[in-house]
Amino acid sequence: MKDTNKHQGLRNQLVKVLEEKGITDKNVLVAIGKIPRHLFLAEIFENFAYQDTAFPIGSDQTISQPYTVAYQSQLLEIKKGDKVLEIGTGSGYQTAVLCLLGAVVYTVERQNKLFKNTLRELPKLGFHPKKMVFGDGYKGLPEAAPFDSIIVTAGAPVIPQALMAQLKIGGRLVIPVGEKEQIMTLLIRKNETQFEKHEFGDCKFVPLLENKN
Ligand code: SAH
Repeated sequence: MKDTNKHQGLRNQLVKVLEEKGITDKNVLVAIGKIPRHLFLAEIFENFAYQDTAFPIGSDQTISQPYTVAYQSQLLEIKKGDKVLEIGTGSGYQTAVLCLLGAVVYTVERQNKLFKNTLRELPKLGFHPKKMVFGDGYKGLPEAAPFDSIIVTAGAPVIPQALMAQLKIGGRLVIPVGEKEQIMTLLIRKNETQFEKHEFGDCKFVPLLENKN
C-alpha cells in the first residue's frame, strides 16, 4: 500500500471532523493531518481508515478512534523534547502522533504479536520512538522514569500506583479509568504526595490487562 493524494485528501477531511468535534490543539491536528493511518491498518480497512472510528488490529485489540487519539494527545500538552511514556503501543498510531509532537517516546505493549509487528513496521513509516518495550504497562518503565507525561491507551480499572510514582512534579497522566466503560481522567502531579484530578467525558477502551496472557 502507498500514501497518495487521495489519502491526503481524506486526512484533511478527518482533521476538519476533529475540529468540528472540538479538538483545538493545532499541533495535534497537524500531526493527524500528516500520519498515513491506512498504513497502520490491515489492507481491507483501507477505505475506512480516515473515518473517525476504531478498528480491529489483531490479538483482540483495536486502533483507537482518531478523536480519542487527538483528545488524549491534547490533554497531554506536550512540549518538544518532553519525555513521554505510552502504555499500549498497539498499532503504533498514537505513538506516531507523540513522535510528531516532538516527544521522546517510550512505549510498552504486552501482546507479543502486536509488539513485534509494530516494532518492525513503525520505523519503516518514518517514526522512531526512543524505546519500544514488550512488557506489562501496569508497572510503567521504572528504568526510564521520571516522565513529563504518561498516556494509557487501554481502560484501567484503577490508576496504577507505579504510573503515578513515575511522573515528574508538574507531569501529566492521561488515563481512561473504569471497568466496562471509562472516564477520561487527567492527573497532574503537584508535589511528592499530591495529585490534582480532572475528569472528562465517558469513553470505551479495550481493558488494560494485568499479568495475563
Ligand atoms: N494506542 C493504540 C491503542 C491500542 S488498544 C493504537 O492506537 O493502536 C490498547 C493496547 O493496550 C492494546 O494493544 C493492548 O494489547 C495493550 N495493553 C493492554 N494491557 C496492557 C498492559 N498491561 N501493558 C501494556 N499494554 C497493554
